[in-house]
Amino acid sequence: MDCIFCKIADGTIPSKKVYEDDLIIAFHDIQPQTPVHIVIIPKQHIESMNGITTENSHIIAHIFEVIPQIAGENHLNGGYRIVSNCGKDGGQTVFHLHFHLMGGKKLNVAMG
Ligand code: 5GP
Ligand code: ZN
Repeated sequence: MDCIFCKIADGTIPSKKVYEDDLIIAFHDIQPQTPVHIVIIPKQHIESMNGITTENSHIIAHIFEVIPQIAGENHLNGGYRIVSNCGKDGGQTVFHLHFHLMGGKKLNVAMG
């Protein structure tokens, strides 16, 4: 399958990794929108939030259990934002489920 994030997960495409375990991997976004911009993905290919099921939702729960650790290790002590774009109207460009961990400054409230 021709999926950039599957290739990052299996190491075929290099990335600046900040966290990895059996289920998930987190790495710096190649085009950061904020001073700290990390992408967190399940290693398993799930297309988007619409692909979350009873069988794989433990992986998503695991991502949210690990987020505070990744945020702390990247000095996001003042807080941060998690974003997941779903589908083309949601602004998704890579169709492998991912969560943007953004921070490093006081973020504006920007919607739409
Ligand atoms: P989306 O627009 O789907 O919510 O987010 C995709 C994100 O992946 C974008 O912020 C984009 O900069 C990032 N991205 C795309 N290709 C690569 C890549 O090859 N390496 C890394 N580290 N980030 C990527
Ligand atoms: Zn994938």
